[in-house]
Amino acid sequence: MVEVRRCTRCILPDIYPSITFNEHGVCNFCLEAAEEKDTPSGKSKAELDRVIETYKGRSDKYDVIVGLSGGKDSSYVAYYLKREYGLKIVGFHYDIGYSSPYAIQNLQNLVKKLDIDLFSVRPRGSFLRRLFAHFLRERGEFCSVCNNLGYLYGASFSRRQGHLLGFSPLMVGGWSKQYEYQPGISVTSMQYFFENLTPALLEELKAQPFIEEKIISRYMAVKDPRQAGIDTSEHEKLGEYAMDFIQLPDYIEWDIKEIPRVLSEKLGWQHPPDVHESHFDCTLFPIKEYLKFKKYGLTQETIKNSRLIREGLMTREEAMERMVLEHTTEPVIFESFIHELGLSMDEVNWKAEWSR
Ligand SMILES: [Zn+2]
Repeated sequence: MVEVRRCTRCILPDIYPSITFNEHGVCNFCLEAAEEKDTPSGKSKAELDRVIETYKGRSDKYDVIVGLSGGKDSSYVAYYLKREYGLKIVGFHYDIGYSSPYAIQNLQNLVKKLDIDLFSVRPRGSFLRRLFAHFLRERGEFCSVCNNLGYLYGASFSRRQGHLLGFSPLMVGGWSKQYEYQPGISVTSMQYFFENLTPALLEELKAQPFIEEKIISRYMAVKDPRQAGIDTSEHEKLGEYAMDFIQLPDYIEWDIKEIPRVLSEKLGWQHPPDVHESHFDCTLFPIKEYLKFKKYGLTQETIKNSRLIREGLMTREEAMERMVLEHTTEPVIFESFIHELGLSMDEVNWKAEWSR
């Protein structure tokens, strides 16, 4: 591998857009982060108590909806809400058929040990494959399909449950603390998804039996429905079609090292031995990372871990060690996945399109 120049504080490489280094080799992102006073969401546990109290009792069946994947963040949300509040939880699982065996086992342990109802929905394979193929061909990525489809399913489910308070797995541990959003290589908005659909795919989306058509048309009219938590103006604009969700890490301490330990002790939660604790829940994740590496020369893990270093949640040494686990060579499943979608390698859009 060619040696790349990296920031001496985080691990961002010199190919990252608009990166500059000072005389000590520290990047502008690290310097800016050091200047900015850490601005947490300003929300507290007391506020969480209040929000939960407000929503509790909307339905006699359940108190809250928790999106579950079997990964660490969503599992911890369910565990925490049960332990702290003894809430009646309905789990919502958006299942595309590519969950890892570990994630499936974790999910089974969790619903059993916490004694919660689980609702699982899987879009039909042919529709998913057409979407994946389309986005790979046009944009060289396919994760935006699930990020948005899963959200639309979740919003429809939430509406059917009478607007219970929801905890969204997409955001959990993620955007609220911004670990999972990687400026430059992340696709962020739902509008990107809508805008890139062909008219035929949009029609097919609207015809999905589990997604309310009205939700789609309303969501097409706001900037980013996926960020429309209960206290945002977007949420208000969406009216009765908004999903009433919050992001737990905004309200409590989110110790990313402690969480997997607690989960394994209390729920028998596990992650694969050869992979670290993030993102193993989807078996397609290595493909996502490989595509990013081929296109941009760095993975989302590099950007995320750089942020964790700045926030004091990871040392640079740990981040460098974890780089060995990054998916920088072609994953074994890649070819069969491409084949399954009816694509050839040449049809994938390999062009880098930095988003910012
Ligand atoms: Zn840096």
